[in-house]
Amino acid sequence: MSLLALGTMAGISQTHAQTISSVPQQKQVPGYYQYSLGDYQITALLDGTNYLSKALFKNIPEAEVNQILKKYYVDQAKGIQTSVNAFLVNTGKELILVDSGASSCNGPNFGSIYSNLQASGQKPEQVNTILLTHLHPDHVCGISNNGTANFPNATVYVSQAELDFWMNPKTVEKLPKAKQAGFLATVDKIKKAIAPYQAKNQLKTFKVGDKIHNFDVVSSAGHTPGHFGFSLKSQGQEMVFIGDIVHSHTLQFDRPQTAVDFDVDPKQAVETRLKYFAEYAKSGQTVAAPHLPFPGIGHIYSLDNKSYQWIPVHFKD
Ligand SMILES: [Zn+2]
Repeated sequence: MSLLALGTMAGISQTHAQTISSVPQQKQVPGYYQYSLGDYQITALLDGTNYLSKALFKNIPEAEVNQILKKYYVDQAKGIQTSVNAFLVNTGKELILVDSGASSCNGPNFGSIYSNLQASGQKPEQVNTILLTHLHPDHVCGISNNGTANFPNATVYVSQAELDFWMNPKTVEKLPKAKQAGFLATVDKIKKAIAPYQAKNQLKTFKVGDKIHNFDVVSSAGHTPGHFGFSLKSQGQEMVFIGDIVHSHTLQFDRPQTAVDFDVDPKQAVETRLKYFAEYAKSGQTVAAPHLPFPGIGHIYSLDNKSYQWIPVHFKD
């Protein structure tokens, strides 16, 4: 082979290499999705996606885990993909945010709620109410950024039971030793997130039976002691923002008795999921969920009242 031929081949492979390296890395359009509920507009906002280890899921034999994950084409080397979503409700008079994402509390894959809300055409200072299903960092941290309120004109609502659990200095003493350091680190993140709102008297609590603006509160303790969902109705339609009664559209739908490591009371969390899954499957309830695949809006179906299937909304332009 001549030197010229070698040079030509080198030239070809170089061009080829350039073509490969210019393939763009995976990058999607901003994560927001709009859905109509009667007179209201619901905007699902994506905070980010990540992978959960299958070891986090409890009360399920490993052979069954593998069988279910195979069915869903889960790449087990990566783990089970999970979303973090929040939801913005525009009533025409008010902007209400349900949960707020993780900000920088849960690593670099999360923290896009603030930019996605703006990409959807809304302004953070116009949000006047924030409803928190519970106080885990992936729901509360997004209300603030480094000690400054992201939504300076909003009043934040969380259940009294939830606030008491995390703020009571005695709670940590009741936990197993292995969980204490993690608990205190979480409390620290919660305190930082709510501080700018507390300072301006913009943190309020609710209890069973209360109504916040147009939302009914739905008691669903277990994942955390003061966990609540929120139900919203307009023109005969209803959506329930279910919060963390479920963390996986795979394992916890096929086998809803499967607990997850993040549950404060796994037994109660399973009972709560079984209760609401049965209820929502029967009534055909539209639900919005923070940890089901974005946009996290859809229905819960059951053929046999034992196992379930997630039926997501279909993209509508
Ligand atoms: Zn969560």
